[in-house]
Amino acid sequence: MRIKVLGCSGGVGPGLRTTSLLLDDEILIDAGTGVGDLTLAQQQRIRHVLLTHAHLDHVCGLAFMADNLFDLIEAPIGVHASRETLQTLRQHIFNWEIWPDFSRLPDEESPLLRWHELAMEEVIELGERRITPFRVLHTVPANGYVIDGRHGTFAFTGDTYADDVLWTFLNRLPRLDKLMIEIAFPDHEAALGHASKHFTPALLGGELRKLDHRPKLYLTHHKPGTEAQIERECRQALRGYDYVHLKRGDTISLS
Ligand SMILES: [Zn+2]
Ligand SMILES: [Zn+2]
Repeated sequence: MRIKVLGCSGGVGPGLRTTSLLLDDEILIDAGTGVGDLTLAQQQRIRHVLLTHAHLDHVCGLAFMADNLFDLIEAPIGVHASRETLQTLRQHIFNWEIWPDFSRLPDEESPLLRWHELAMEEVIELGERRITPFRVLHTVPANGYVIDGRHGTFAFTGDTYADDVLWTFLNRLPRLDKLMIEIAFPDHEAALGHASKHFTPALLGGELRKLDHRPKLYLTHHKPGTEAQIERECRQALRGYDYVHLKRGDTISLS
């Protein structure tokens, strides 16, 4: 299994794309602006989309991809998300006003998108892949995903904030080899981080002491323009941890 990072920035700009991960060419985890770099043929290969939450930087690519594929695919694309996230998408985006309801097009029998509600902490199996959603704290209902690879376990938190529920869940995993987690703001914007439920370097460094595992960290979602400062602050806050600042185009191997 292999994850390609299509986008992992907290915003857009030259070379920057918002959150979207491509797992083995046929599963998208979040559908931010990174989806726009896939060719039409690559988009046609997507069979499932797993969403962490309904914020635009994580779902806008789904709207455009659905429109692109309208008359090109034969089987529906499964869109997997929590009940709350699906409800928001259907009510506020795929509502015939902002965008067509592609779960009823071309027809209700064989639509382009098919919604699948996730139960937290219940494994879903997509081919050989075992993926488990888990609840995280953000300003809207949000979840992350654990993916079990043949030789290790990877967890992606999505957008999240300091919350013992996260660490309790991760500590219950038998192993955790790789953890993709966000830092959106530098330390001087901790108040903004608190209001918008995003991590800062010092806060994440403190919270990680609650994690019993010692995974490699993949840091994401830095707001455009703050990257260098966040990197400087992480050298102090995450001293001793094995970590990288993830970039668009990077790959994470899970096998
Ligand atoms: Zn968000
Ligand atoms: Zn986000």
